[in-house]
Amino acid sequence: METSDPPTSDIANAVEQSLDKLGVRDAAGLEGLFARLEQRLRDDVGQVTTGGRGPEDIEQLRVRWLGRKQGLVRSITENWLRSAPAELKADVGKRLNALRGSAEEQIASIARQPTVDKWSQPLSEPVRQRPYSAAAPGAVEAAPVLAGELDITLPGTRRTIGVEHPIRRVIREITEIFLSLGYSVEEGPDIESAYYNFEALNIPEDHPARDDQDTFYVDPQTVLRTHTSPVQIRTMEKMQPPVRIIVPGRAFRHDAPDATHASMFHQVEGLAVDTHITFADLKGTLDYFLKAFFGPEVRTRFRPSFFPFTEPSAEVDISCIFCGGTAGCRICKYSGWIELLGCGMVDPALYSYVHYDPARYSGFAFGMGVERLAMLKYGVQDIQLFFQGDVRFLHQFR
Ligand SMILES: [Zn+2]
Repeated sequence: METSDPPTSDIANAVEQSLDKLGVRDAAGLEGLFARLEQRLRDDVGQVTTGGRGPEDIEQLRVRWLGRKQGLVRSITENWLRSAPAELKADVGKRLNALRGSAEEQIASIARQPTVDKWSQPLSEPVRQRPYSAAAPGAVEAAPVLAGELDITLPGTRRTIGVEHPIRRVIREITEIFLSLGYSVEEGPDIESAYYNFEALNIPEDHPARDDQDTFYVDPQTVLRTHTSPVQIRTMEKMQPPVRIIVPGRAFRHDAPDATHASMFHQVEGLAVDTHITFADLKGTLDYFLKAFFGPEVRTRFRPSFFPFTEPSAEVDISCIFCGGTAGCRICKYSGWIELLGCGMVDPALYSYVHYDPARYSGFAFGMGVERLAMLKYGVQDIQLFFQGDVRFLHQFR
């Protein structure tokens, strides 16, 4: 009489009666009964899971199914198994064991899942926004630590503190030395007119430095500055002597990237103009600076050179800081000297661009590559490392 089987919702009542009373007398009848029990179990578990219930709800579910006194499994044992006819007994026992196993497994499974307790609803509210203050005593105890959601014994997320970029750091060190000598800092635009970048610096139209291959042109009259020297002109235009400035900044050249060339790099330009300034002042200033930057044991050497905007001009070398100038290492190519920067006395022709009286004023200028100084000072082999943003490299400058 399968048709008179109680509906699923009444399965709880069915377990209170014997199989005989329920009219179940064969395997097919048993299968239908246990199928409804399995369905009921899934429904019960689903209600607890989707309802976001707490530990007490899970416990209630466990008691309902597996409770030793009035659990459904217990009732089935009492009312179905014991009074089952001999030919059905083994089948009932087998199905009952399967149901018990299934109930145990599903209830244990939801108990393992993280749950929330009532005061932390809704679920979407971030844990960190919960009240946590002296005004809410017991807040810590009430936190769902036991439910596994928040482990307050875990260390917090540590944020590493950044370091000054080595290029910035070298610019700052250079600047501090010159500030102590009474210089001030000037800046100019990265995008510069061809006039300031070339013409006013005595670099005429046909000079090789204006070659397309070296210079990034924005348009025929505008370039990305190829050096920081334009700021010399800009400063002299707005300022009468005495002038003592340094100009840290970016410069750009169309160079193929390799270990010593990058299309963007940094320079520090220097300019001093006043009455009675001589080459001796230039030598003394740079010698002082290089000793302050690399160490007092460093010696300096001036070699004649050429720059369009200085006359006379010189290259400055320092005694090799790696072999102590003994000509004993590869970095100085066994010469004992390292080429470092260019300098010279300001070409009097420049003064005509800025209306200084060349009979009254004289001055010197110098320019140095920041990357070159940084590479020497910190033993960096490849200029590209400065611009790759690799924290493994940058961490070393703590
Ligand atoms: Zn050396």
